[in-house]
Amino acid sequence: MPEREIAGARQELRRSVEELARHLERFAAGLVPGPAPSFSGFDELWTADPWTPDGRYQVLSGRLPRPAVAGSVAELRERAAAVLAAAGWTTGTGEGEPESVRKRYEAIVYGTRDGFEVQFRLSARAVEFYGRTPVTRLYAWESPEPVVTAETVGPGYELCPECDGLGWCPTCEGRIVFLRSGSYTGYRSGCPDCRGDNVCLVCRGAGRRSC
Ligand SMILES: [Zn+2]
Ligand SMILES: [Zn+2]
Repeated sequence: MPEREIAGARQELRRSVEELARHLERFAAGLVPGPAPSFSGFDELWTADPWTPDGRYQVLSGRLPRPAVAGSVAELRERAAAVLAAAGWTTGTGEGEPESVRKRYEAIVYGTRDGFEVQFRLSARAVEFYGRTPVTRLYAWESPEPVVTAETVGPGYELCPECDGLGWCPTCEGRIVFLRSGSYTGYRSGCPDCRGDNVCLVCRGAGRRSC
């Protein structure tokens, strides 16, 4: 794959994950007395945007059982927003989350700051914290060379009318593309055009056809 890791980018992402863990610990400490939940990461780095697949971010989450946390839904929602606002976060209440996520929770409060996002989600059984690092560009993408050109197409063949000799799917150019739903959870699928095969659907990677 013509994908090259950008020097230092992975370390930068790792530093962001450590900073995120501190943000979450502070948020939880301000909201819930007693020991903070332990935060763990999803082991996969997800693409933040299907069309910039070289961007990655990481998610951390932790939870406590609801009975450990005193307060009504309204009180906890207000307290979460106040704790975040006092620490300089811009707060909201999860309007951007899909309906399937929203209906599982009694309250969602989130805060954004410097590219980080943290969330507090309250359900009947648990108090959950989520956080997301800023997107870090890990890879530089270079479009692949076409497998066939006008010079190399050969007698009796013409360039594939779909990919013009590229061979790769013209939409994703061979990149691994993920589409997701929701900020933290959801289904992922491959490139919408080639469904993750990554090759041109007309020539199946040959870049040419008989004429
Ligand atoms: Zn594709
Ligand atoms: Zn083609």
